[in-house]
Amino acid sequence: MNVLIVYAHPEPRSLNGALRDFAVQRLEAAGHHVQVSDLYAMQWKAAVDGDDSLVHEASTPFNPSLASKHAFENGQQRADIAREQDKLRWADTVILQFPLWWFSMPAIMKGWIDRVYAYGFAYGVGEHSDARWGLRYGEGSMAGKRAMLVVTTGGWDSHYSPRGINGPIDDILFPIQHGMLFYPGFDVLPPHVIYRAGRMDDARFEQTTRELGERLDTLATTPPIPFRRQNYGQYEIPALTLKDDVAPGKRGFAAHIG
Ligand code: FAD
Repeated sequence: MNVLIVYAHPEPRSLNGALRDFAVQRLEAAGHHVQVSDLYAMQWKAAVDGDDSLVHEASTPFNPSLASKHAFENGQQRADIAREQDKLRWADTVILQFPLWWFSMPAIMKGWIDRVYAYGFAYGVGEHSDARWGLRYGEGSMAGKRAMLVVTTGGWDSHYSPRGINGPIDDILFPIQHGMLFYPGFDVLPPHVIYRAGRMDDARFEQTTRELGERLDTLATTPPIPFRRQNYGQYEIPALTLKDDVAPGKRGFAAHIG
């Protein structure tokens, strides 16, 4: 299997750095091919702007979506974007690894999504009709690939429990797992969250790597989160609301999981 790890932490000697090294070794020892996009080490440009297209003229108003579409279709994207798209094409499984910062991914990783997910590559794919609303939410360029988050948090497990003050972890990660991964077609595996990361000693680190190792060993067989697919009869089109007989009484994020 080809595994791409997209990794965001500014310090290689961090806990995240150690877990990233562990993951690469574990996957390679199992015979997988691994590439790592180490975003800080690559000095990844996080902000979308006109320089993302090789042909943008400053005299023309910059429209991020249309510029992305044009550059993608005409082979005029910056090389750093095209390289990451090639890695995504190559990958069977993609792991996004990051520390939870302000209830989300570090900005550098959000900027990787913003720039690599070009119009025509990750969105704006497929035909719109009365029955289909583009290839997205379970269909699209990443269909057939798997994805998983590996996330460390300062907060405790209980802080992210269903009645915890931070909100349930599945809700916090929903925009990433559903919006950034399921949307372009990935099958999204349950996240691997390492809570209370500040309380790490050698014994807990050993346990943490054991648990992460088990998740890495079962990447190909772990059942994905059963997000509802857009074009398979459960949503009204074009309103894109759940049909009345689907998950009646349920609302919010949880309603989109079958
Ligand atoms: P490190 O600080 O590198 O390490 C954590 C512990 O692991 C340390 O005790 C270290 O000694 C130990 N360790 C490191 N490597 C090893 C090793 N090889 N073997 C054994 N022990 C080791 N948390 C939340 O819950 N929610 C938030 O919204 C949130 N927002 C944040 C926003 C910002 C800007 C920042 C800076 C932090 C935020 N945090 C938040 C906390 C953050 O999620 C944690 O600090 C982070 O997940 C810890 O991961 P790290 O790799 O940086 O750990």
